[in-house]
Amino acid sequence: MRIGTVGNTADIISRHKFSIRKKYGQNFLADISMLEKIVSAAAIGPEDKVLEIGPGLGAMTQLLAEQAKRVTAVEIDKELIPILKETLSEYDNVNIINGDIMKQELKELCGGDKYKVVANLPYYITTPIVMKLLEENAGIESITIMIQKEVAQRMQTGPGSKDYGALSLAVQYYAKPVYVCTVPPECFIPRPGVDSAVVRLDVYDTPPVSAEDPELMFKLIRAAFNQRRKTLANAISGEGSLNISREAVQEALKSLGMDELIRGEKLTLEEFARLSDVLEQVYK
Ligand code: SAM
Repeated sequence: MRIGTVGNTADIISRHKFSIRKKYGQNFLADISMLEKIVSAAAIGPEDKVLEIGPGLGAMTQLLAEQAKRVTAVEIDKELIPILKETLSEYDNVNIINGDIMKQELKELCGGDKYKVVANLPYYITTPIVMKLLEENAGIESITIMIQKEVAQRMQTGPGSKDYGALSLAVQYYAKPVYVCTVPPECFIPRPGVDSAVVRLDVYDTPPVSAEDPELMFKLIRAAFNQRRKTLANAISGEGSLNISREAVQEALKSLGMDELIRGEKLTLEEFARLSDVLEQVYK
């Protein structure tokens, strides 16, 4: 029996008298072909270990369990745990954990092995979850996620687009984003108010650019996009905690052959890395 049909989703919800919780971003995917498309984009093989965030009623977990060696699924809503135990009872390779993914030690969750993350993410907390997955360096090979379409666009865009920002640069430092497909609201119960999209982030073993001090580079990126209408020199010097003068930024830009009045939104990741290396001397 497939969990993720419209009929079975409605039946499970009503049989368990489950109240859908908006605060947890609960939009259940009730479309088998879409679920299959996500799992196929994740390219799960029989030796793969998978971490699923927010299994909900188990619709995607079921398909993952049929492909993977082992699935660890972390669900915050304790009311869903007995439901998951029932819907996934025939799969002995699924480990359901009741908890908040933001509070989990990722390396421990998957026993220190390489693994793939697959999730239909709750929209209220998409960016913090993605940043945790990328920054914790916990052996993740790829992250296949359903997210708000607009956020998916921000992840894969470059300089010159209005969607380009700190999230684009952070994601592209750690991973290569691949846009899989757009998903209309009709595929969910209940329907979200926005279009969704599936993206796969193929995590790099080594980042595509090297900065001497990546932490400084990300501070510069955040300063640039916190004040994106300002010139980069003004935005960086205006960020008190950095303690870098406007003149120092202008000098650094000049030394890199860039316009001293340039805005941060024009710089590529590589250019932020070079700027960060020059400014590291001032920052020290
Ligand atoms: N995977 C299911 C599906 O595709 O139908 C449910 C997806 S629903 C968009 C998001 C799920 O994430 C919900 O089950 C919700 O309870 C759970 N969730 C929300 N915040 C969470 C958190 N911080 N940690 C773990 N799970 C969370």
